[in-house]
Amino acid sequence: MPGRSQRTSGSVAMDDYLEQILHLIVAKGYARAVDISKNLGISQASVTNMLRKLDSEGLVKHEKYRGTVLTDEGHRIARAIIERHETLTRFLRLFGLDEETIYRDVEGMEHHVSRPTLAVIRAIADLLEGNPALLEEARRKVDPQT
Ligand code: MN
Repeated sequence: MPGRSQRTSGSVAMDDYLEQILHLIVAKGYARAVDISKNLGISQASVTNMLRKLDSEGLVKHEKYRGTVLTDEGHRIARAIIERHETLTRFLRLFGLDEETIYRDVEGMEHHVSRPTLAVIRAIADLLEGNPALLEEARRKVDPQT
């Protein structure tokens, strides 16, 4: 697929798994298939299959007693996925959208945004954060009532 190499990582499903696994590891120190399954709303059998695939690609490994952990490469990719989620969220929050809309849209956008486009959004978010007058002007363009 053209442009594929510009994306942060692999498929949509793999991104979601790596993101969840890192969230679980940060929260609890380990990621269990049952928790991944619950958080993603996916059957445990599918989770087990995906973990096997991620393992064969060197992104996770299974440790006795600890459950699934990320390899260094898996951790690097998961960090990039989460950073991308946070950048898109930060950008939309500047405009005061409701949190539910932001979350839903970010979950969709993050799978399609290329690295160059993400860099543009990050730059605009930085610029608006550093310039309250410009931010106000931008917000007024979106909603002239405010
Ligand atoms: Mn996300």
